[in-house]
Amino acid sequence: MDTVPQLDLKAQYATLREEMAQALSAVLDSQYFVLGPTVERFEAEMSAYLGGAHAIGCASGTDALILSLAALDIGPGHEVVTSPFTFFATASCAYKVGARPVFVDVEAETLQIDPAKVEAAIGPKTRALLPVHLFGQCCDMDAMLAIGARRKLPVVEDACQALSAQYLGQDGKPHQAGTMGATGTYSFFPSKNLGGYGDGGLIATGDDALAVRLRKLRVHGAETRYHHLEVGWNSRLDALQAAVLSVKLKRLDAWSAARARNADRYDHLLADSGLIATGKVRPLGRAQYSTHIFHQYTVRVAGRDRMAEHLRTRGIGHAIYYPVPLHLQECFRDLGYREGAFPVAEQAAREVLSLPMYPELTPAQQERVVEELGAAAKAA
Ligand SMILES: *Cc1c(COP(=O)(O)O)cnc(C)c1O
Repeated sequence: MDTVPQLDLKAQYATLREEMAQALSAVLDSQYFVLGPTVERFEAEMSAYLGGAHAIGCASGTDALILSLAALDIGPGHEVVTSPFTFFATASCAYKVGARPVFVDVEAETLQIDPAKVEAAIGPKTRALLPVHLFGQCCDMDAMLAIGARRKLPVVEDACQALSAQYLGQDGKPHQAGTMGATGTYSFFPSKNLGGYGDGGLIATGDDALAVRLRKLRVHGAETRYHHLEVGWNSRLDALQAAVLSVKLKRLDAWSAARARNADRYDHLLADSGLIATGKVRPLGRAQYSTHIFHQYTVRVAGRDRMAEHLRTRGIGHAIYYPVPLHLQECFRDLGYREGAFPVAEQAAREVLSLPMYPELTPAQQERVVEELGAAAKAA
């Protein structure tokens, strides 16, 4: 019985081994490990990739979010409007600067934040909108930016799952995810589409003053060494990660294209299997206004937990992103949300299943996945 992992980083590493050894060895020879020339080179490459935005490396995607809110002077007494259906850090960053997340429900088709619900959540304490580009495609940024402009609120884009996705907006030009708001945040956690060999993150901004502030905030708020005008963080990208990421960035577009091909193949295999026609498996919708780089290939299934258990016994990798919407997390109890507050997100949490997805995934592996989904649906 052939097993299929949800993510296979070894398959990617096999294609990079020698170039990676050289890149890491160069850092070891330099003995310059935190920020410094290797990080500066990677930041310049990211800036070019992102169409000229300032690119500021930091210790993680979570820190990129926290630093963004801090640089926008968001703190105690303030609120940040965001999605309840995302990775924890999208909302915890507000807590970490002393502010509160305020949630709005997601769209049923794509599970992206629903712009139609945003305005009602804005109040006198609101200081930012924090949409996330979930699973590798953009949310409706024209709508989010329009609300931000109307209400004079900066938009912080959580692009941690969407680096290399392009937003196809009303202006007719493609925009890299994370480059449209006041800041955009990226994560280089190993399982992300551009993954380091440890933690890492980056902030993009087109605003010169914000960039200067962010560069200070990541080094304890120091203006020059040992002279602090404000208290910042220790949140720096290290040179070993930057060296790894420089090797990988050159391949990112090809990897994104391979993921999209694999997603198309899943679509066809699922359609041919009859699982879509019978409604047993429903892939999430693709937005017209975004390309999709398939950080995850996620479907909705009835009887999800039984389905997942079947896949587990058959050695088919899968993941549940996300089983508990953020408004129902124990740690956010004091926000006062109840079950039923966000029905679309709550139903998604019961139905979503993410299938194996990575560039090197083979057609035969994908056939195995769909075969076992079919077997599980029949058994149900
Ligand atoms: C991964 C992720 C983060 C956090 O990134 P880390 O580098 O793990 O801190 C934030 N938001 C989203 C949507 C993510 O997927």
